[in-house]
Amino acid sequence: MAILNLGILAHVDAGKTTLTERILYETGVIAAAGSVDKGTTQTDTLEIERARGITIKAAVVSFQLGDLKVNLIDTPGHSDFIAEVERSLRVLDGVVLVVSAVEGVQSQTRRLAAALRAAGLPFIIFVNKIDRLGARGEPLLEEITRKLGVRPVPMSLPARLGEREASVTPVDRGAPAWLEALADLLAETDIEIIEAFERCGGELERGYLEAALREQMRGGDIAPVYFGAAMTGAGVRELLDGVREWLPPAGGADDEPALAPVFKITRKPSGEKIVYVRLMSGRLAVRQRVTIHHRNRFGEVELAEARITGIDGYRSSGAEPVQVVGSGDIAGLHGLRDARIGDLIGDEAVDAPEIAPAFPLPALESVIRPADPGQLTALRTALEELAEQDPLISLRQRDDLGEISVRLYGEVQKEVMTETLEREYGIAIEFEPSRIICVERPAGTGEHIELMGENGNPIMATVGIRVEPAPPGSGLHYAVREMGSMPPAHYRAVEETVFEALSQGLYGWEVTDCAVTLTEARTILYSSPFSTAGDFRKLTPLVVMQALLQAGTVVCEPIEQLEVDAPEDTVGAVCTALIRARGTIQDTYPEGALHRIICEIPTAELPGIEQRLPGLTRGEGSWTSRYLRHEPVHDEAPTRPRSGPNLLNRERYLAEVS
Ligand code: GDP
Ligand code: MG
Repeated sequence: MAILNLGILAHVDAGKTTLTERILYETGVIAAAGSVDKGTTQTDTLEIERARGITIKAAVVSFQLGDLKVNLIDTPGHSDFIAEVERSLRVLDGVVLVVSAVEGVQSQTRRLAAALRAAGLPFIIFVNKIDRLGARGEPLLEEITRKLGVRPVPMSLPARLGEREASVTPVDRGAPAWLEALADLLAETDIEIIEAFERCGGELERGYLEAALREQMRGGDIAPVYFGAAMTGAGVRELLDGVREWLPPAGGADDEPALAPVFKITRKPSGEKIVYVRLMSGRLAVRQRVTIHHRNRFGEVELAEARITGIDGYRSSGAEPVQVVGSGDIAGLHGLRDARIGDLIGDEAVDAPEIAPAFPLPALESVIRPADPGQLTALRTALEELAEQDPLISLRQRDDLGEISVRLYGEVQKEVMTETLEREYGIAIEFEPSRIICVERPAGTGEHIELMGENGNPIMATVGIRVEPAPPGSGLHYAVREMGSMPPAHYRAVEETVFEALSQGLYGWEVTDCAVTLTEARTILYSSPFSTAGDFRKLTPLVVMQALLQAGTVVCEPIEQLEVDAPEDTVGAVCTALIRARGTIQDTYPEGALHRIICEIPTAELPGIEQRLPGLTRGEGSWTSRYLRHEPVHDEAPTRPRSGPNLLNRERYLAEVS
């Protein structure tokens, strides 16, 4: 049976949830279409999504279109979660991009279209809300061309726009005028169409042109467009016909090796973990042994073995236990306790070609506190649970201060976490204002050695460490120069504490792009007093930090790429403001009726500039930004309070630990 993994993407409020409900109703999965406004939808499972009317976690629902099985994967729509959107794109075969007929193409729509293009995912555009006052019809096609850079191919057109009774009429795809218009659109990027057109004297076959359209859709700059209203159901049947006709079913074969990326993880109330995968190829069966391929945050691939103890398959009737799941399909796997989002599940022996690198870490953080200090432990447990289900959440704990900070992609994430913790865990919390997160890179090479029993070192261990710069973006590297005769536990103790120590550099920020070498290590095993792994845990952080002191570090702050679309006569003023905010203009060019400015700017300056942009562009501007990289701070380096013992003062540290 052919399978299509479908995503519905939209700027928030364009009608993604309403359309999902309507599709499930039309295809007989649910008996009545729920309403976002009444909080009765099927797919927004979390309480908080109901309250806010937005969708954050991915969920899977299946329905049938004739003999095509469609797995609808609910993807988030807000820009704070763009990284999660991009990850979920990897498991899709095609997308319906929803645009509101009233608001038209919005900033997030543009960003989503760009992500689809980059992923080579074909999409159909659904122009929703044709029943609402102010809805636009054909003029939107021009806006789609201009703002999205997509050539629209209208497949249905609206009637009685802006009225409750608004409906759609499918275009006559056999009509010579329509075929000629389609040929023209296709010819814009395909010279062969023109040649074929001339050969046939303008009588090109419909089948030929439509096949060419399907082919070009993969480039992401041409898309069929359907009008409709998710709320009333108008145009939704036509859209579903379009899904069948234009989007390509999953490839891959059951007899190939199994490869399945993990895109979601949940826990049952019993605590059992369910790992959601999409099979790119091959099949997986209950009791099969599989390999979990994980890319750690240092970029290395780690392998773990596990056995699948159960599989949830998806049908129109819901999830149900199955024995086998085949290529192209979605499944919930039981028994894979160590799997994380972004991992690849494969047959025992298979080489995983590409595992997604970890997300770029968020550029912001904020301290989170329970309103009732007595709930600190409960909060910590709740956050650890949430962090496992959602790779966008990462924590930093400072036990000495009883302080937990959370890394953030944006301000909306704070609101979402506040509500989740309140509703699901009954914990009221407060956030401090967000701060940017810097990193430290070694400025040069540094080396330090502590010899046991010498120079006032009372710890029963000898450790020598060298630190030196590694290429930007390459993370931390650790190597042992001389594998001596220490027990493995002692080497492990050194390695683990090296990474721990480097989580706070000279200015308190995490150290990265750094190569660490263990140059010397000695232990005493057979005479009393003998060395323990604990001795190495005590001594290593001191050696690392002393080596780092010698090397010195450079504090680097996050930089974003900001794209602003502004009216031409405001470009000068916008650029001036950007440059004053430490921005560097990369490019400006006309983009439809507006001008696009591409600029690199420190994340720290973004909130200020975002406040000024509406005024500077008379309210006509729109913008998006995304994290690019960290770059050295030129002015005074910002610091972050250090936690734990002070490793920068050797004498005091040695006195404290012994
Ligand atoms: P999402 O944020 O993209 O999931 O959008 P929702 O489905 O939550 O819809 C946002 C708002 O638009 C809600 O108040 C919906 O009732 C409303 N809405 C969605 N589709 C339609 C439609 O076809 N017509 C009208 N008039 N309103 C709609
Ligand atoms: Mg929604």
